[in-house]
Amino acid sequence: MHKAVLSGLPLDDLKEALKPLPSYRGQQVFHWLARGVRSFADMTNLSLPLRAELDARFSLYSSVISAQLPDPDGTVKLQITLYDGTRIEAVLLADREYRRTACLSTQVGCPMGCVFCKTGTLGLIRNLDSAEIVEQFFHLYLIEKTEKKESNISNIVIMGMGEPLKNLPELRRALAVLTDPEGLGFSKRRITLSTSGIVEGIRDLTDKGPDIRLALSLTTADAGLRERLMPVTVTNPLTQVKEALRSYQQRRKRRITLEAVLLGGINTRKTDVDALATFAEGLEVVVNLIPWNPVPGMSFEGRPLREPSRGELAIFIEGLEKKGLTVTRRLRKGRSITGACGQLGGNL
Ligand code: SF4
Repeated sequence: MHKAVLSGLPLDDLKEALKPLPSYRGQQVFHWLARGVRSFADMTNLSLPLRAELDARFSLYSSVISAQLPDPDGTVKLQITLYDGTRIEAVLLADREYRRTACLSTQVGCPMGCVFCKTGTLGLIRNLDSAEIVEQFFHLYLIEKTEKKESNISNIVIMGMGEPLKNLPELRRALAVLTDPEGLGFSKRRITLSTSGIVEGIRDLTDKGPDIRLALSLTTADAGLRERLMPVTVTNPLTQVKEALRSYQQRRKRRITLEAVLLGGINTRKTDVDALATFAEGLEVVVNLIPWNPVPGMSFEGRPLREPSRGELAIFIEGLEKKGLTVTRRLRKGRSITGACGQLGGNL
């Protein structure tokens, strides 16, 4: 029989799990976990008999790193093996010298089937539990800490494998662990969830939190084209997605990021600029453009996908800026290790 795993338990659940031990023991274990400790033997403020008792009853972690792939640009991709032998990927992005971002997955594979994304070709294998989400962060945290003596992860993006809003209950528990001031206390303002546009999930996030940042992977606001690129659009029409985003913004008072993966010759037309600008009307947004990261063999309606040319990109940016939109461009990171946006899951 598997031992219960502690890494993904919010503090109250951890105290409950440790009963009949007094609740302060739960607090002590929670503190150690927040420091990245993964062996009871290292919990030096617990007596040796207590460490042995806990070790007999529980596991701290359920996943292990199976490969660590560094890119010369500073990005590191981890392949992580879960208790059942399935594998996921998590990425440490090196934005600048002083800023590291942990990109976490929420599912093994993904059910959404976006045509430009490698993960989408895997289909959904299963949801991750909160421990498997939390552990991705700490696997990345320890690499960073080992290399730099202290961890410099300043941001978390929930943009790895999977659609986070299809696994919101477990993600909530994971974020409760990571943001608890009694533990790591990671700032909610520095956490961004990216969704393909699940209306019900956006409403749920608006109503019940957590109060994190939201990004919509829009790609194009041309509804007909989007239905073909991102099948989620068929059951989650953009009009309803926009309404849900508006409610989120009214309630949470946060700027929303509209992400657009740019596919050369497909969604870089003037009509895509116009549709995106119309979609953004009435919302406070920043547009984040992501030139498609190549994945061999991927095509759309019989045409191989390609990156946008420099010219296409420049015209697209200019078009959006003329409409008064703030545009940022995602740096190309981790491409040599297929750790860039849309490439995850290719080597599993
Ligand atoms: S882009 Fe995101 S939602 Fe779409 S298939 Fe890939 S992982 Fe899933």
